[in-house]
Amino acid sequence: MTSVEKKSSAPVPAGWTYAPAPESTEIVSLRDRYGLYVGGKWLETAERFTTIAPRDELPLAEVAQASEADVANAVAVARSAFESWSALPGSERAKYLFRIARILQERAREFAVLESLNGGKPIKESRDVDLPLAAAHFFYYAGWADKLEYAFPNRAPRPVGVAGQIIPWNFPLLMLAWKIAPALAGGNTVVLKPAETTPLTALLFCDVVRQAELPPGVVNIVTGDGSTGAALVDADVDKIAFTGSTEVGKAIQRRLAGTGKKLTLELGGKAANIVFDDCALDQAVEGIVNGIYFNQGHVCCAGSRLFVQESIAEPLIEKLKKRMATLRVGDPLDKNTDIGAINSKIQLDKIEELVQAGRDEGAEIYQPPCRLPEKGYWFAPTVFTNVAQSYRIAQEEIFGPVLSVLTFRTPDEAVEKANNTPYGLSAGVWTEKGSRILWMAEHLRAGVVWANTFNRFDPTSPFGGYKESGFGREGGRHGLEPYLAFDA
Ligand code: NDP
Repeated sequence: MTSVEKKSSAPVPAGWTYAPAPESTEIVSLRDRYGLYVGGKWLETAERFTTIAPRDELPLAEVAQASEADVANAVAVARSAFESWSALPGSERAKYLFRIARILQERAREFAVLESLNGGKPIKESRDVDLPLAAAHFFYYAGWADKLEYAFPNRAPRPVGVAGQIIPWNFPLLMLAWKIAPALAGGNTVVLKPAETTPLTALLFCDVVRQAELPPGVVNIVTGDGSTGAALVDADVDKIAFTGSTEVGKAIQRRLAGTGKKLTLELGGKAANIVFDDCALDQAVEGIVNGIYFNQGHVCCAGSRLFVQESIAEPLIEKLKKRMATLRVGDPLDKNTDIGAINSKIQLDKIEELVQAGRDEGAEIYQPPCRLPEKGYWFAPTVFTNVAQSYRIAQEEIFGPVLSVLTFRTPDEAVEKANNTPYGLSAGVWTEKGSRILWMAEHLRAGVVWANTFNRFDPTSPFGGYKESGFGREGGRHGLEPYLAFDA
């Protein structure tokens, strides 16, 4: 029994009992060992590492650790494939992208199970969010492949060349789709490095590439740790697309300065979710819960700072705590699970350290009673009240299921506090008043502002940040631009 479970002063949970509803893992057949996928072939490497399931820490497979030479080889292969791929008419490239989208739909269950197994996210999220969105990105960019001249009229768009793409562990397949679909639609070839803790869906994607009969060398997957990512940044690529921490993003930007390589960075966030006293309260509570507890809070645009108008702070926090008590934490592969496993031990340590900092600085913590499994990496949904702007939990990206609540009185004050962060990725506004939504959207320094909703994604809509949240946009027509060069 954990200390969380022993808490007694919490509001009464809903009292529902759920029988386990585990999704079978039989649909996934893993190999014992994976190489690098380069030029349509599996290549062995000198070194390997083991990837595990964060729900029980059991090993899933051995994965190749790509060296600098392995990365250079993958980039050379991508470059030789570029000539014929970029010469294909856009309508031909589109056919491959449509095929990939359809295969992802057909194999959605297999991918969803593997995503939850390797990453720890609840199956209902990988099944209902990650997979449909990943397929939707390929469908969407397939549609642009033969219309680039219309997307960028009078600018003579052409592909950039070989794109190096580095992705994180929070949405492994979805981030792959965000990166590979626009690159291929634009006529580029790619070398992609998945995160060290979640390589398996990218490796399964190689089988989709094979099934779609994509020409060899157009998509290459190199697995490894940060050093593999660094080797890709330094390799002979024409563009780097990176999603991950601000710290690594800054290091990449320094390395690329003066090289002429194109760069887009999608980095961290500390989003403000702002609730006005005229909002639909129950709806807002759902939006707050979705904003921070979706994907265990491992979301760059998570609504991790809740700003509540002072007059409704008390009833809102009461409702929020009651709702939190109904969240089910546990096996990611159980269809009832709301909050799955924390992605890695390192990430769990980071969350625990920041939560301790919140306690030490004087914030008040609430965690609903919940039974956390003995094995694996877990963290109960957490909310901090009495938070000051200066506390670390109000300033730093926790990247876990931890919400900091602050209050405000006027819209001006809400904007000033919301913008008081080095980040600028996303924000949410809850109010019945349309004019206030527009005013807030204009004044919030965030790449995405959601109104009366949160964490809503669509391939047609550009996504990206300001300030230390990075630059460049992914999604929509804007997401094509970084993969194109222009004569005019
Ligand atoms: P990183 O930024 O280290 O990882 C992102 C990707 O970059 C991974 O594929 C990683 O490889 C790779 N990488 C690591 N070092 C380098 C390097 N020097 N050059 C090129 N690529 C590199 O994030 P972490 O996984 O370490 O997470 C740390 C924190 O970052 C989290 O706690 C969270 O706050 C934030 N984060 C933000 C994300 C976002 O979407 N904005 C996503 C993930 C994390 P490898 O996995 O092998 O280390």
